[in-house]
Amino acid sequence: MNKQPIKTFDSSLFQALEKERNRQESGLEMIPSENFVSLAVLEALGSIATNKYSEGYPGKRYYGGCEFIDEIETLAIDRAKQLFDAEHVNVQPLSGAPANIAVYFGLLKPGDTILGMDLAHGGHLTHGHPVTHMTKVFNFIRYKTNEAGKIDLDNLRAMAIEHKPKMILVGYSAYSREIDYAAVKSIADEVGALTMADIAHIAGLIAGGEMNNPVPLFDVVTTTTHKTLRGPRGGMIMCKREHAKAIDKSVFPGFQGGPHENNIAAKAIAFKEALEPSFKEYAKQIRKNAKVLETEFTAKNYRLMFGGTDNHLLLIDAVISKGISGAEAEAALDKAGITVNKNMIPEDTRSAMDPSGIRLGTPALTTRGFKESEMKTVAELIDRVLNNSTNDSVLSEIKAEVKKLTEQFPLYPELA
Ligand SMILES: *Cc1c(COP(=O)(O)O)cnc(C)c1O
Repeated sequence: MNKQPIKTFDSSLFQALEKERNRQESGLEMIPSENFVSLAVLEALGSIATNKYSEGYPGKRYYGGCEFIDEIETLAIDRAKQLFDAEHVNVQPLSGAPANIAVYFGLLKPGDTILGMDLAHGGHLTHGHPVTHMTKVFNFIRYKTNEAGKIDLDNLRAMAIEHKPKMILVGYSAYSREIDYAAVKSIADEVGALTMADIAHIAGLIAGGEMNNPVPLFDVVTTTTHKTLRGPRGGMIMCKREHAKAIDKSVFPGFQGGPHENNIAAKAIAFKEALEPSFKEYAKQIRKNAKVLETEFTAKNYRLMFGGTDNHLLLIDAVISKGISGAEAEAALDKAGITVNKNMIPEDTRSAMDPSGIRLGTPALTTRGFKESEMKTVAELIDRVLNNSTNDSVLSEIKAEVKKLTEQFPLYPELA
């Protein structure tokens, strides 16, 4: 086998990785679904656990030699249970989308109706957007937010009574408000529907005690592990004991093959980190930092969708706020070293490739150590970019300021 490190074995790949490391180090990462993992998580991802096939579950594998892999997976499962107060946990889903697909097939039959939120109102592609394969299998009906920017529970209830869904699905990628899980559960009970929450974006805030936890209440909860939860790229399903068998069978052998045990080892590390008191501080600071952005942008007369934020993210109407499209805003911010993503807003009249909004959040910057005063600076930098979106010399000036700011908060000095 090759004994050389990447640096000497593959200089093309090494250089690409170094450029990406520099980009992460010297820019402001504000995509709300992104974060920076610890060196211990990176270590687990690059560990020899990647070598092992382990189809099945701890104690019930289809391959020999799984006794230590069982220890790794059991650590991840037990810590996740503790973190979210879950009865049953499956840590094998390869990412958030496969976790959701495994739930649909595990608990429903083809043709069954699922009531989920519209993508443009903050939902996720996997919640029934017409471009996804799952809409060929299940009948998705999609609710929306009201004019005040909130989930309209009366409308949700009316739709549930009209469409008789087998499952009601909450949980979002661009919605910035808290969710009343108890109210959703009572609507589901009224129509005999299962309850599913997809907490991919806010799992870290829930684990840190900063947002409501649906796990004790809902039938099934899915999440990614790489967003606010600050673990490796991956997925996870938590459910009531009564659904454990159906969920496990759906993930494997129903949908996936061998689990990625290096990834599961990294999940175990991330969950241990999230159980530490410092993670509560982290979750609290994510929200404080988002509130600073809300205050600053409100003072500058920006149009914030959903009226502001309860969590880690903001959805901004760039067209009304600054007279430029979401794509133009994203491109200008990119030139200044600030990474956000263009995003649809509720009732958007523009297309998904060139929508009206930008979505930005604070999890990654908070990991770097940014607090309220830095976030105020960040809001000013963003405003200057959006006021000068076609002026390349101003944008490169701002990029230099961004680099200076990031130098005060080194990300991975050990890897430099
Ligand atoms: C990110 C996200 C997903 C998908 O996760 P992937 O890991 O990208 O597959 C699913 N649901 C929600 C709500 C998300 O935010």
